[in-house]
Order: sequence, then structure tokens, then C-alpha cells
Amino acid sequence: MSEEHTPLTVAQSQLKLASKKLGLDSGMHKMLSQPKRSISVSIDIRMDNGTVDVFNGLRVQHWDARGPFKGGIRYYPNITLEEVTALAMLMTWKCAIANIPFGGAKGGICVDSKKLSQHELERLTRRYVSLIVEYLGPHRDIPAPDMYTDAQTMAWIMDTYSQLKGYRIPESATGKPVEIGGSWGRIEATGRGVIHCVKQASVNNGLKLKGASVAIQGFGNVGYQAAVAAQEIGCKVVAVSDSTGGIYCIDGLNIPDVLAHKEKTQTVQGYKDCKNITNEELLELPCDVLIPAALQNQITYKNADKIKARMVAEGANGPTTPEADKILYEKEICLIPDILANSGGVTVSYFEWVQNLTREQWPLEMVNRKLEEKMTKAFNDVEAIVAKEESDMRTGALMLGVGRVANAIKVLGLWP
Ligand code: GLU
Repeated sequence: MSEEHTPLTVAQSQLKLASKKLGLDSGMHKMLSQPKRSISVSIDIRMDNGTVDVFNGLRVQHWDARGPFKGGIRYYPNITLEEVTALAMLMTWKCAIANIPFGGAKGGICVDSKKLSQHELERLTRRYVSLIVEYLGPHRDIPAPDMYTDAQTMAWIMDTYSQLKGYRIPESATGKPVEIGGSWGRIEATGRGVIHCVKQASVNNGLKLKGASVAIQGFGNVGYQAAVAAQEIGCKVVAVSDSTGGIYCIDGLNIPDVLAHKEKTQTVQGYKDCKNITNEELLELPCDVLIPAALQNQITYKNADKIKARMVAEGANGPTTPEADKILYEKEICLIPDILANSGGVTVSYFEWVQNLTREQWPLEMVNRKLEEKMTKAFNDVEAIVAKEESDMRTGALMLGVGRVANAIKVLGLWP
């Protein structure tokens, strides 16, 4: 079996499948398969040692038929326009599934952020915003955190945008620190949302969550918060990993303590009373729920057959390839796809944007309650299609997302 996938070929084949199932005409399919705008800029900055370096910055705006473009910005070495385009497309479907009034976008800077100082990162971020400022804005395109960016990055983005426009515009970025208009619960939102989906799926699957074993690949914001939320509902997190490798303990891990260990030693490995494992081994552990919350292309035709979990909830974007999807479906493993499972982050980004526009700040309990309502509704909307089509959940989710965007484009019409 050949499987040379790039994120874009995967995203295109998913769109093709949804278009076919929905009976979209070829014009609509063509429109949806291209981004509205792709921006590539050279970011020149002065490094702390006085030399000048140049980084490539990207922003891809896929579709805005349902509302302004929305999506994260990642800092990652070797990031390509192709990859950012695929991720922008996923954001369009994700926002439509969550039923929030946004389109899809993604951005990136080709940089190893761990090698830059805070001052260099600040100059890089602000210069990037200055180069694309005319394409951003609270009613045009609203950035958020993604891999290796965080609330501080969003503070710089919002501040630079506001400085260039001449007045304070908090609604120009989401995922900001709470002191300057960030929403309570935004940091936890993606991980919590993944667990809301697991909860819903377990009702349908008859999986008892009390004491259920959970393995999580990735210990960044999404992986860590998913681990905390899983423990809150009585699950046992038996394995976690980061880019250096993973740890496994059949009796369950103390998650905040593992974080403290990682902060001290830069790795989760070597944590007391645990077996060190590789990232590949983590995926194949015997467990009830597997949460890939790190990189794309982790579950492929090579290892899909060895997955022993009963349920896979995709915290990361694109961790499973189309061939692996088929294998998991045949093995009757319930897979909750990224565009549904990790939509909690952008959902609370939407709440943050609404709070900023109305100059309100909602209490945490209200944010969490609204998040659960939205996630449950999205999950049930996808399940209704799955039941009707007798399909897997990814196909159901794609049909819902792509279908909603196509309907919006149809009623907008084509101008001129
Ligand atoms: N980067 C996150 C995602 O992939 C959040 C995007 C947002 O909040 O706009 O969904």
C-alpha cells in the first residue's frame, strides 16, 4: 500500500469525499478546494547579537462565507505554505461544525522558537503583524495561538495591530492573557473540549469512564489540559509523552506532578516509578482512550493495525491518515475527528471575541457551561449524520462542515 501523504493531499481527499457524498457540483468543489488568499512575507529582524536574520511568515485565508477568517498561528521550523493551506481548510470546516460565525485561516512562521530569546520573538511577532496588518482585523481575520505560540504572542499581536490602527482593539486576536481581554477558560478549552467529546462518545459506546485508562501523545497545552480534564471525570491517565519520548504507569500518573518534573528536567521521561517509552509505543498501548495531541501523520497504515484503544480522540490537527482511518473503522475503534474533537479552542475564542466586542468579561463557570453546550450540540449534529449515512465520524463531521459552508456560499451568490 502506498501512502505518500502531505497534509494538503489529505485535506483535499477529505473534501473530495464530502463533496461527493453531499452531491456538490464541480464548481462548488473547485471553489472550496482553493484558499481565498495566501500571503507569504519576509520578516527581517535584528537578533540580540546585532546581526540581522530573515524568517518566512505565512497566512492563508481559506473561506469567509460564514464570517471573518479565524485560526491560529504556529511557529515551527520547515513549515510550508502547503501545510498552512491544509490547516486553514480544516479551520473552515471546524468553525462550521461548531456553528460559530467564522471562516477558516491559519498562519505560521518558519522558525525554531526555542532558539530565539523573548525579545527576538517579540520583534519577530510584531514585524510579522506589521507586514500583514491590512489583511487582519476583528471583522477580517482574527489570529489565535497554535503550536509554539501562546497568550503572550497574542498580546503582542493585539498590541501591534492596535498601535498601527491608533486605538485599542482587543477583539483583533483571541487567546490573550485575561488582563487584557482574554477569556477565562480559553487555555483549558481545547483539552476540555476533547474530553467533552470522549464523554459523549462513551455514552453511545457503553464505555465506563470511571477508571478508564487514557494515553495521551503530546504534553503541550492541549495534551496537558486534556489529561487534567480526563482525571476530573475519573479517568486514569496511564501514559503521556513529549517530543523527547513518553512515560507509562499502569496505576495512573499524577499530572500536575509530571508537569513540575517536565519543567525541572525539560522532559517527561525519568518520572518516578514509570517506564520510559517511545512516542510510537505510546500509540500502541493497551488502553481505553487514545488522545493524539502532538503532530500530524502519527497513526498511519503502518501502525493503525496495532492500535489497541477502544476510542481515539484527535486533539492534534491531522494525526490520522486516510488509510489509517479505514483500518480503525474496520477494527470498530471509535475515532472522534480533529475538526470536532479539538473545536473547543476556537469555540472559546469565539466567546472571547464576543466578550471583547461587548466589553464584558464572563465568569469561568459561564464559559465552561457554554463550551459544554456547544460541544454537545456539535457532537450530536455529527452523530445524526453518521446514523443517517452509516458512515464513520470523520465523514459525518466533514459532511456537516463542508455542507454548511457550501450552503452559505450558495445563498451569498457569486458577485459580479
Ligand atoms: N489553533 C487552534 C485550532 O487549531 C485554535 C484556533 C482559534 O482559536 O482561532 O483550532
